Amino acid sequence: MGETVTGINRSTSNKLFEKAKNYFPGGVNSPVRAFKSVDGSPLFIQKGDGPHIWDEDGNQFIDFCCSWGPLILGHNNPDVYNKIVTTLQNGSSFGAPTVLENELAELILNRNPYIEKIRFVSSGTEAVMSALRMARGYTGRNKVVKFEGCYHGHVDSMLVKAGSGLATLGTSSSAGVPESYASETIVLPLNDPEAIKACFEKHQDEIACVIIEPIPANNGLLLQDQSFLNLLRELCTENKSLLFFDEVISGFRVGFNGAAEYFGIKPDIITYGKIIGGGLPVGAYAASKEIMGCIAPDGPVYQAGTLSGNPVAMAAGIAQLTACSKPGFYEDQESRTSAFVNKINSHAKTKGYDFEIVTVGSIFWLSFDGKKRIQRADQIDGDMSKFNLLFNGLLQRGVYLGPSGYEVGFVSAAHTSEILEKAADAFCESLDSFM
Ligand SMILES: *Cc1c(COP(=O)(O)O)cnc(C)c1O
Repeated sequence: MGETVTGINRSTSNKLFEKAKNYFPGGVNSPVRAFKSVDGSPLFIQKGDGPHIWDEDGNQFIDFCCSWGPLILGHNNPDVYNKIVTTLQNGSSFGAPTVLENELAELILNRNPYIEKIRFVSSGTEAVMSALRMARGYTGRNKVVKFEGCYHGHVDSMLVKAGSGLATLGTSSSAGVPESYASETIVLPLNDPEAIKACFEKHQDEIACVIIEPIPANNGLLLQDQSFLNLLRELCTENKSLLFFDEVISGFRVGFNGAAEYFGIKPDIITYGKIIGGGLPVGAYAASKEIMGCIAPDGPVYQAGTLSGNPVAMAAGIAQLTACSKPGFYEDQESRTSAFVNKINSHAKTKGYDFEIVTVGSIFWLSFDGKKRIQRADQIDGDMSKFNLLFNGLLQRGVYLGPSGYEVGFVSAAHTSEILEKAADAFCESLDSFM
């Protein structure tokens, strides 16, 4: 089936997927990998190098998934590789402190004016889960405000979708989440000042924190107004609630200090993930000394991890963030990305296609409904049939995107202008074939 869809040989991937279906739910270890929303079955990746990946059938692709964001230096970066290998020569895990944890913390805290202490964990989900517990423990309040379309990992209380209307009390959108957990989550529309004001009027002293992806990038790219984010800061301060920026994607992506610096807003809590681990599993939550003081063993909020601060993972993070901290790194990322995006957008405009790529920093998202700026989840056109055609057209032309139209693409430092020029041509050709 996959072969006819894309016109490339996917027979080995298809066989491997048939096997995997016997082992894993849906054949995968994370749902979006299953290619459910695009035709065919997933490509099994054999290796990656720089901007490229190769599947088990030997097809080569320019990769814009980049492991869903972590690989800001591309695949198999020599600095990251060498640091991992030399660290591993001394053993892989001790369950005791190592100097590498200090080094990664210094690299981050010495540059970031928004946080004073950090705790390393092993995933973005774990970071958010732990930080929510901290917010509740610190404030002594239970309710959490989140926004429709923001993803915060598979934490029980965050797997809640909004109905329409103001300050809807959450009902669970995943089976297995007790109604009583979900009822502590208030879901509001993004970029809607009246909704958040009304919510604080109603729940004034019950709200532990307001959690947001300051650059929502898990459900399209829903760029918020600066004034909306400023309002969140003001309302949280007024009501003694904590402002929680989930920067698992935006952290070290739109700038070294993430969206906090991009918008010039100091949140009370920040979570990181993805880029921070250099391609290995690392997450982190961070805040002021005072707020972090409530975490065990200093304080009463318990949180622990057998592999937290794992030396090999810390090493990968150190190597990657060292490269990111070099002067001009983010300017360069952004200028290559915008040249790439502009080329495709101007082609689409000339041809009159209802298509535009939305971008910030080195993140981009393909919007097929022609709206200039979508800021809320309910404004996304749910018809992904055109994304599907583009996705498959690009596979045929040697370009790999994450297999979902709701997901964003990532440009890495290994995506040279030359590579991006080639990829842009593939985008234009693919669009021409069906638009
Ligand atoms: C990816 C992501 C998470 C979850 O991180 P995992 O490492 O997949 O658990 C949480 N929040 C945001 C904003 C994310 O993009």
